[in-house]
Amino acid sequence: MISSHHLSNFYIAGHWVPPQAGASQHEIINPATGEVSGVVTYGTDADVHKAVNAAARAFQGYAALPQSQRNELLQAICAEYERRLPDMAEAITAEMGAPLETLSKPLQAKTGLWHFQTALAIARDFEFSRLQGTTRIMREPVGVCALITPWNWPINQIACKVAPALAVGCSIVLKPSQNAPYSAALLAEILHDAGVPAGVFNMVQGPGAAFGQLLASHPLVDMVSLTGSNAAGASVTKAAADTVKRVSLELGGKSANIILPTADLDKAVTHGVTLMMHNSGQTCVAPSRMLVPQDRLVEVEAIAKRVCESLVIGDPLLPDTFMGPIANARQYQRVVEMIDAGVAEGAHLVTGGTGKPENCERGYFVQPTVFSRVNNQMTIAREEIFGPVLTILPYSTVDEAIDIANDSPYGLSGYVYGATVEEAQSVASRLRTGMVHLNGANVDMAAPWGGYKQSGNGREWGAWGFDEFLETKALLGAAAN
Ligand code: NAD
Repeated sequence: MISSHHLSNFYIAGHWVPPQAGASQHEIINPATGEVSGVVTYGTDADVHKAVNAAARAFQGYAALPQSQRNELLQAICAEYERRLPDMAEAITAEMGAPLETLSKPLQAKTGLWHFQTALAIARDFEFSRLQGTTRIMREPVGVCALITPWNWPINQIACKVAPALAVGCSIVLKPSQNAPYSAALLAEILHDAGVPAGVFNMVQGPGAAFGQLLASHPLVDMVSLTGSNAAGASVTKAAADTVKRVSLELGGKSANIILPTADLDKAVTHGVTLMMHNSGQTCVAPSRMLVPQDRLVEVEAIAKRVCESLVIGDPLLPDTFMGPIANARQYQRVVEMIDAGVAEGAHLVTGGTGKPENCERGYFVQPTVFSRVNNQMTIAREEIFGPVLTILPYSTVDEAIDIANDSPYGLSGYVYGATVEEAQSVASRLRTGMVHLNGANVDMAAPWGGYKQSGNGREWGAWGFDEFLETKALLGAAAN
């Protein structure tokens, strides 16, 4: 596990350094038990300045390295990460409650490794320089990057920023979520042991609003990339305006899952419900609005109820657990309030509710909850709940389903289930979202990740993740006419 030294110090300029005066201690609560699992230090503005200065000093030298050396570094990071995979899985389960065997080990921890492996594969072939007529087009690192990340897929969200930023030659200040300090500290250990040059990667732990403001307005920071809530995204954007920084945002979602009349209903509903409850519903692309043909509603409700009642909920350390707790007290409160809102607005409660699941009295557990006969103007259909709460909305025609899907301030992802991929694709082409999963397709690490509308700006993952961290330079007259 993580040494307490690495939770009470910050990783700055290649060393674990003690915080400046004014730092404070905060307990980390195990969400499955409500018990304290550790203590993390939150820094002050002085620590942020120190980290930014270290990143600024390191930038030029790191950016000037030949790409082959950065590729070797990525390879060393992959090897070290692979060695620490079991620790990473345990860290994630301890900090946010993902079931160890069914989620942290096979997915949560591995997504971090996969982002580094993907970055390495892309970096080997990426065109950082090319001639266009007599002009040479150069792609150069944007500079010092402030990365601010959430707790729900904690290492995935850190690695999908850190891996491409390191690959293209940026230097970094990471401010991870206060609710997920273990995985971030472990990644700092991995990067240190893999030989990342001093100052290229720095990490401070602390409060979002204050550190976010400081990082986003800091004159030595060139870019801020945030994954988190829309409120945090808007706040960072405003703070970055005076220094005209690049701002990349991956924010919330309320993704529609359109089950077409031709779909295999049992398969599509089972998949949609299971995916919704995965990670206790704390996934930005969760299929949280299931749109189903009006005349099949009763069947859909029965399938959804059966699936929810079959899920194994409880201790994330037990091998068969599918759904653990909600990750923290604040989020638990939010989910319970939203279930209350659904009942108050008159939605039909198919299964679940605000009571704790059986044998889950300790910790922040919520039952998998399904509301049906929801209309798209209800709070539970408009707002991101970020918990195991599915809303089912009936439609009469496919055109109406598409209108309902697009009637959202969000545009992160979508899902379409039909008899054929062609049929699903023709509906997907009319959805205003950054991603659409056809007939149950899984994520693709090399595909662009990001949203339309208020779900954010920019794209992460794969080669699109590289573009986020690159500037473009034109060298005019670089070749003879
Ligand atoms: P959050 O916005 O509370 O926190 C995210 C990060 O931002 C944390 O590090 C936090 O300390 C920091 N922060 C908080 N307020 C800030 C502010 N005013 N200025 C700058 N930084 C601030 O979000 P969360 O509760 O940690 O995560 C859940 C949210 O993240 C959900 O809305 C979810 O949809 C979103 N999310 C989006 C994606 C995506 O890829 N689009 C992925 C995962 C999560």
